[in-house]
Amino acid sequence: MTARRETQFSEGGKSKCVINGNGTSQGQWGRAWKVDWFSLGSVIFLLLFAPFIVYYFIMSCDQYNCSLTKPAIDLFTGKAHLLDIWNKTPPLTWKAVTLYITWVIFQAFLFMLPDFCHKFLPWFRGGVQEGAMTPAGIVLKYEINGLQSWLITHVLWFANVFHFHWFSPTIIFDNWIPLLWCANILGYSVSIFAMIKAYYFPSDAKDCKFTGNFFYDFMMGIEFNPRVGKWFDFKLFFNGRPGIIAWTLINLSYAAKQQELYGQVTNSMILVNILQSLYILDFFWNEAWYLKTIDICHDHFGWYLGWGDCVWLPYLYTLQGLYLVYHPVQLATGSAIGILLLGLAGYYIFRMTNHQKDLFRRTDGNCKIWGKKPNYIECSYMSTDKTKHYSKLLTSGFWRVARHFNYTGDLMGCLAYCLSCGSEHILPYFYIIYMTILLVHRCIRDEHRCSSKYGKDWKEYTDAVPYRLFPGIF
Ligand code: NDP
Repeated sequence: MTARRETQFSEGGKSKCVINGNGTSQGQWGRAWKVDWFSLGSVIFLLLFAPFIVYYFIMSCDQYNCSLTKPAIDLFTGKAHLLDIWNKTPPLTWKAVTLYITWVIFQAFLFMLPDFCHKFLPWFRGGVQEGAMTPAGIVLKYEINGLQSWLITHVLWFANVFHFHWFSPTIIFDNWIPLLWCANILGYSVSIFAMIKAYYFPSDAKDCKFTGNFFYDFMMGIEFNPRVGKWFDFKLFFNGRPGIIAWTLINLSYAAKQQELYGQVTNSMILVNILQSLYILDFFWNEAWYLKTIDICHDHFGWYLGWGDCVWLPYLYTLQGLYLVYHPVQLATGSAIGILLLGLAGYYIFRMTNHQKDLFRRTDGNCKIWGKKPNYIECSYMSTDKTKHYSKLLTSGFWRVARHFNYTGDLMGCLAYCLSCGSEHILPYFYIIYMTILLVHRCIRDEHRCSSKYGKDWKEYTDAVPYRLFPGIF
């Protein structure tokens, strides 16, 4: 049977969102309409504690040599007071404010440029691309130019390091905590703006969701795809830049700091830089694919994405490099090679699994997976306007092994970054612990959504591919 997709194009209808929709005129699937007590508790917990967690981790490195337990013990035994720690915290500075504003404006400028990369790189899918259909049946267009922005930013960075010397390559590390305040200001501002925008001037009213609970709506977002003008898409901008473009620069700044402090860059720091750069470059090379991932396809834009992309991602995803500035670890050659191989194997599984699904969906199943025509399950779902659509769920290749083997590959890569830091402290292992919780939760959340979207067809799929992450285990 040929898949049928009845697509309705829209670029920013200007009407007000329907408050407390009951699902009769808006999409049934996607983020929750109602909040249960557990979700509300988790949301309030995260709103209260996530900023504190970031602060605690960064200050543990700044004042306690990256020990996570020592500040807690000192606070508990009365050796230190919260106020002492607060008083020692570097404040917001004009230098950091200027640096941060310049950075965000520069990234916004690059974001608005048309893409030229796809004209020179034949295998790169850039320029104007379509996103997935929203629950309201809308398909948005995006200008895919993340690779171009990443390349321009890094060419300028290296031009500065090796030729112009406008600023020190350790500039990010040297202003790390003052920059944290700036990132928080932007994260909160954009989340509050997104909430107000959803009420008064949403980009697409039919794709707004209100639960009626302020905290849940603020955190999980109301508008699906908030935009300013035709092209400034909040989700694409904040997720990819300034957060992910900054990631490689932050790591380079840490490496430069090691060089400045110890006169050398350790092999562990090089490993972290290489493995994470591979992941980040992959992200921008495949930015068009990213339009079909959960972040863009299903999540609404609220504090979770707005603050998370500005603060959580650049500060906590880069903890390994930060740790290695305070604890320069030189790995034995055998260990370094083992970790590199683990990271590369994880990356291969992650990339190939994502590629297989992308290829399968793009060609509507008319492709080869592992040299054969793929097997799949036909499924159907309803959109807002009660139109029936058809889709397919792949059951070949890595999608035969488990329902989210891409997450498994991702987790192997995360483990490799952490192992690069040796075993003296728990702090750099935060990443693998966090990613395991995030991806397991995401897997359950996604499957719940898919189950309500595809109904009995999803059941047929889960019968055919019974495991989520590891065959025989989970
Ligand atoms: P997926 O790319 O796995 O997308 C899930 C969606 O794919 C489902 O909602 C469904 O959407 C569709 N789908 C599910 N099963 C099949 C199938 N068998 N065949 C075809 N389509 C299917 O998940 P994510 O978007 O969460 O992740 C993308 C990548 O990003 C992953 O590799 C993950 O590891 C990584 N990631 C990294 C994070 C980080 O912080 N570093 C955070 C989150 C993700 P539909 O409604 O279209 O059917």
